[in-house]
Order: sequence, then C-alpha cells, then structure tokens
Amino acid sequence: MTHDMIITGAHVITPDGTLERNIVVDESRVVSFTTDDVPCDTRIRADGLVALPGLIDTHVHYGVYTPIDRAAGTESHAAAIGGITTMMRMLRIGGAYQKALPEQLDASRGRHHVNYAVHASIFNYSQVDEMEYCASKGVSSFKIYMNLGGEIGHVYMDTAPGSTGLDEATVELTVPLIDKIVKNAAGLGLPVCVHAEDYESCACSMREAQQKGGDGLGAWSESRSPEYEAKAIQTVCRAARKYGTTVYFVHIGSARALEQIRAERAQGTKVHVETCPHYLTITHEDRGDYLAKVMPPVRTRADIGAVWAALGSGEIDTLGTDHVANTQSSKLGDGQDVWGALAGFPGIGALLPILLSSGVNCDRLTLEQLAALTSANAAKIFSLDGKGALAVGRDADITIVDTRLEKVLDHEMFGGHSDYSIYDGMKLRGWPTKTIVGGSLVAEDFEVIAKPGTGRFVAPR
Ligand SMILES: [Zn+2]
Repeated sequence: MTHDMIITGAHVITPDGTLERNIVVDESRVVSFTTDDVPCDTRIRADGLVALPGLIDTHVHYGVYTPIDRAAGTESHAAAIGGITTMMRMLRIGGAYQKALPEQLDASRGRHHVNYAVHASIFNYSQVDEMEYCASKGVSSFKIYMNLGGEIGHVYMDTAPGSTGLDEATVELTVPLIDKIVKNAAGLGLPVCVHAEDYESCACSMREAQQKGGDGLGAWSESRSPEYEAKAIQTVCRAARKYGTTVYFVHIGSARALEQIRAERAQGTKVHVETCPHYLTITHEDRGDYLAKVMPPVRTRADIGAVWAALGSGEIDTLGTDHVANTQSSKLGDGQDVWGALAGFPGIGALLPILLSSGVNCDRLTLEQLAALTSANAAKIFSLDGKGALAVGRDADITIVDTRLEKVLDHEMFGGHSDYSIYDGMKLRGWPTKTIVGGSLVAEDFEVIAKPGTGRFVAPR
C-alpha cells in the first residue's frame, strides 16, 4: 500500500518525549511512526531537524484594516512561513452576529493557507443574546475587552467582507455586562477570553499623563499601570467564581498581573494565561519608537524576567501573538507623539523563531515545553479536537524546524499585509523550514508553495 506522506529523519516531539521515527501520514492524519521506509506519494526529508506539533497562534487580529476575503490570504501566508498551522481570529463585530458571522465564515472559506478558528467578541446586551447562536456556529470562546469604555471606548471592528473602509465604533464594557457574558459562557461550556485592563483607571491616568506632556513608550506604560490589569483580573475572576466560568487571560506581560492571577487561582478560579512574544523581548526601557505601542504596554526588563519564569514553571499556558495586520502609516498617524499612534502591531511570523532563539537556544525552555505552550495547551483549553500533539490518529499539522538556522528577521519574508515588524533586524537562531497543514506541505524554506485553501475552519468538539 502507498501512503500519502512520510517525513523521515526528524526528532519527533511527542507528549511522551522525543521519538526518532519516521512519521507516516494518510488522509490528513498521522497513522504511524516507523523506522521502516514505506512507499508514499510525498517524501519530506527532515534529517537532523525537529518535528513539532503544528503551532496554534491563539490570538490574531485580521480582517480589520483589510477585509477577511483579502486578509485571510495575506495573514495566513505569514502564519505558514512562521510555522503556524492554526490561527485563532479575534473577531469583532459591531452589529448582529446572526448576520455578520455567516458572512465572515463564508468569506474565510477556501482562502486560508492554514487552519483558523474564531473567538467572538461580545460588546453589548443584544450580542449577549446571540452567544448561543455563536456557539452553535463553532466559535472557540467569547472575548471581553475590559479596556474599552467611557472616553476610551473607541475600537475598530472587523470590516465587512469586500469592504474597503474601516468600521469605527464606540463600546462600553460595564461590570453588569461582563457579569452577563461570564454567566452565559459558563452555561455554554466555553471559556471567556479577557483583555484585563480597567478602562476607568486607564482613562484617568492617560488624561493626566497627556496633560503633563508625557511621551514615549515609558509614559504609555506608566499611564496604563499593571495595577489596572490586576484590578480588572480581580473583577472578572469574582464573576467567574460565581458561575464556574473558565477565564482565559490574553496577553499577560507584567509581574503584577501574574501575581494577581496566582492569587485568583489560589481561590479556586479556573484560569488560563496567554502571553505574547513582545512581552518576552521588548521593554520601554530599551526602545524609543512608537511602533511597539500596544495594550497592555510592553513593560520592564524585570517584567520580561517574570514572564519567562512563568513560562518555564507552567503558570503561563499559551502563546498568542496579538498580531494586528496594520501598516506603519495607519499605525503611527501623524507621528507626533505616543498618544496619537494606534496600539498593536504584526507578529504572527515571529512567534516561533523568537521562542526557539530566546527560549530553547538559551536553555529557558525545552522543546517539549515549547510544544505544550504553542500547541497542546491551546488545543486542550479550546477543545480543538485532533490538534495539539504528534500522535497516531491526530491531524497531520506538523511544523519542521531547524534549531540551528540563523537569520535576520525582515517583515518581507512573511508576505503579510504589514510593511514593518517591530522585530525587524533581530538576528534569531532557530526557524521553521516546513509547515504541513492537514498532511499538505504548505510552506517550505520561507516560501508558501500551496494555493490558499488548505486551511480549514476548526470548531471546538
Ligand atoms: Zn488582541
């Protein structure tokens, strides 16, 4: 019998340790591990390389600055080059999900190079009433933006498929609204993803900082203190304990937030934690430009140390990039000061090389820990059946990496919509060289070799 694919010679990272076996793939699944050379249609030579379970980027914004029918192609291209096999979209809709969700899913179909899933943001009471509908359509979770409200409630929604403009809106995530979302999510058995920053505290402090003439990433960080993260964490965890909801904190990057999460876990709250590559690499102490403006802000070297320690100890569960597919001109606005710039930047392609370079190759993480943080844990938390591990019967989403390959990061290598990367010029050691999605070789040596459409929608099961 001839098999679909064999991957030979790789060190295979499995939940039970490293296997020195060939991986055999049939009908988009891993069917066996063998020392034999079996007849097959596609042979992938991976001698001396490492095979990881395909990476899941839990946190991606695309479909905001360009509509999803275009963004699916460009951003999943960047994902594929970067070794990501599933990208989880943070969908933001201003109106009714019953209208917008089918449109967004239709326009996504057949256009992704890698698999994709959807988190649905809930902004108002009529959307609360649509949570059951969203769940029935296969969303992975519900997202709460505790940073949005009052004078800082402005947000860009995902734009309608085919549209060329931006969809601006103003929202207010009040405590009673948050309570309702947290309650409903528990009933539907889905986690809530939480952007934990208290908007009232942030608004007040930002106003003061601007009046004082503060500028730069340091002023930005100071005006959105980690204390305001801790405050929001407390608020939502109180509700989560009441209803038994699982809370997933997105983009945690400060020692203070981690400390608060520890306290909430000690009280029995069901909590998962995500961090992002920028909280592992970039500080306002070392960086002057506005490109690295993000919410919550990049912090200090001490915070970076705390985040790495939490990755190593298992306190942090997952990695998401918080990738925003914007361009420099839309990001910086008039370029006058930090307040006028938009928050967020692209990063999906940089996740794996940063973790290999600064994590695995600096002895901060083992490859097994990397596999758990970038794949297994996300698959478990969001019930992505078939994902998360290299094991017989699982989906053949496989990322092959060369841990010794050195390269200087350049945003152009990813082919996304963005014309910059905050990591441009960084020399990194350890890169993905092949990205396999559902048994199809999608990217090889920094080139996407398949047409869009290999990626499938992934719903919790
Ligand atoms: Zn985000």
